[in-house]
Amino acid sequence: MRIARFSIDGNVAFGAVEGGSAPGEEGALVLDIIKGIPYADFELSGTKVPLSKVRLLPPVLPNKVVGIGRNYAEHAAELGNEVPDVPVAFFKPTTSVIGSGDAIEYPSFSQELHHEAELAVVIGRMCREVPRERVKDVILGYTCANDVTARDVQKREKQWARAKGFDTACPLGPWVETDLDPADVTIQCTVNGEQRQLGRTSDMIRSVEDLVVHITEAMTLLPGDVILTGTPAGVGPLNVGDEVAVTIEGIGTLTNKVIKRG
Ligand code: MG
Repeated sequence: MRIARFSIDGNVAFGAVEGGSAPGEEGALVLDIIKGIPYADFELSGTKVPLSKVRLLPPVLPNKVVGIGRNYAEHAAELGNEVPDVPVAFFKPTTSVIGSGDAIEYPSFSQELHHEAELAVVIGRMCREVPRERVKDVILGYTCANDVTARDVQKREKQWARAKGFDTACPLGPWVETDLDPADVTIQCTVNGEQRQLGRTSDMIRSVEDLVVHITEAMTLLPGDVILTGTPAGVGPLNVGDEVAVTIEGIGTLTNKVIKRG
């Protein structure tokens, strides 16, 4: 099931996306509004609205977004980094989260903004110290993410809080796919229709299971929390006016335009 969060006529709701899934068929998609929230047992209301009539919002409201760096060997190498012995973890603040169709605001303190297409894991229940065999029980589903990074700032500053945490630096969407097997799907990034990144999740150094075990060894994850699993090779510049799209096989496409911060 694909679960979207959206607003219509000033009301915010979750809905199950139904209909054709091929690119370009989005006009045919409808949302069946969910009663309550999708983190517990829920029912579909039967009230349907066309996707074209709503504004998609970030599909979750995370308490935190935990990023993982250098989880694809080719990407670590393209930036001149070694693959670390222990996964590099960092936070992106909740104020950096935007949805599909929202604008990425180019920060004033950077001259080198980069896209990073990533598979995002969405947590479905409160959990800590999750054993490997229980990981699938704590995951609600998966969505597309863009770990937008001010690369020059990341190189200049020891901690990545500003480089990866500025407002609009965490596009998520378009919805959460609950039925995906994340072991081997393609991740693609295009800028203005031109392919920049093409990778497979099977090339991740640490799997989704590894990352959930590693993170929950340290901290409690809450329903709606998000883990970014790292980006494949091919990261590159974003400029004002660009349209960047992250497509993950079996999920959909997250699209954002880059604007100057007004
Ligand atoms: Mg990243």
